[in-house]
Amino acid sequence: MENCVDGQMGGSKVVAAPMQVLVAEDSPIFQRMLHHMLSKWGYDVVPASDGEEAWHLLRNENGPRLAILDWMMPGLDGVEVCRKARALGREPYTYILLLTARTERSDLVEGMEAGADDYVTKPFNAHELRVRLRAGRRILDLQEELVRAREALRRQATHDGLTGLWNRTAILEVLKKELVRGNRESTPVAVLMADLDHFKQVNDTHGHLAGDAVLQQAARRMQSGLRRYDSLGRYGGEEFLAVLPGCEGAGAVAQAERLRESFRGQSFELPGGSLAVTCSLGVSWTDAPQTDQAEALLRSADQALYLAKDHGRNRVEIAWMEAAVGCSTL
Ligand code: GH3
Ligand code: MG
Ligand code: MG
Ligand code: MG
Repeated sequence: MENCVDGQMGGSKVVAAPMQVLVAEDSPIFQRMLHHMLSKWGYDVVPASDGEEAWHLLRNENGPRLAILDWMMPGLDGVEVCRKARALGREPYTYILLLTARTERSDLVEGMEAGADDYVTKPFNAHELRVRLRAGRRILDLQEELVRAREALRRQATHDGLTGLWNRTAILEVLKKELVRGNRESTPVAVLMADLDHFKQVNDTHGHLAGDAVLQQAARRMQSGLRRYDSLGRYGGEEFLAVLPGCEGAGAVAQAERLRESFRGQSFELPGGSLAVTCSLGVSWTDAPQTDQAEALLRSADQALYLAKDHGRNRVEIAWMEAAVGCSTL
């Protein structure tokens, strides 16, 4: 007997897990008949004997995504279950096929308007039901592809392709949101701007690919050195921006020092050998966040970073908003 869903065997070696189909039918005879047919076609039947049970199964996050609902059932009828499922607006989509003895046009319109995707009238023809289920599966597959494509686009729009970190636009959004939250909760927000030292030399000496590998390792190293609720983005070529919610000056400087040390203390592994890379960091923070402070914080952190470079690199400098204050920690 086929152990894969109807229509997937055709020449292909891919064996998919049987697809679950909710069969909500109060008549034991129809339930048995449907169970037999659907199992034969390779579906995994999830039975329900009334509308309440069907609704309970459908609203479960991992519930069946394909459903055959009898219209006439005690308690909740098929159309009501359908309405509830649509109101839930769950993703991935649930494809609903109504099973009905009603043939009046106005009845069918009611069923479709409640959100059913298709209907089959009783007594039904097995072949017709089989192809309609297949059509439903095609819709579900297409919808899944769309969701995947949308998620991939969303990721591309917000993440840096090389390091997987937030991109510049996204990390700036994070900063703005954290300032709003900090303002509401009266908690500080700090930013760290980190720039790899003499990175051009890494490219010039070892090649651009080696430079890319260093950037990827640098991103991982920084990410693992931050707290779970901190955010890290690639701000520019070899420049990273960390947003630290709830972190005041001393904590931010200590964090920046830990990051600096994590670079200085361990070399980077490249196919041709290991390489010592250091970074400089500029720190700024605000104890009383204002929602429009993002630009000022970034400008200060940038000034502090500039000082760190100017004072010899591999060091941390701090700034408190507009007034950049030099503070060597070496
Ligand atoms: P400093 O210590 O003053 O920061 O010196 P630097 O050499 O790091 O700074 P500079 O701005 O002169 O050079 C930055 C280099 O970063 C130049 C650029 O080619 C390189 N870079 C930027 N983005 C990428 C990238 O995605 N991959 C690689 N491999 N290199 C990059
Ligand atoms: Mg019934
Ligand atoms: Mg640099
Ligand atoms: Mg730079």
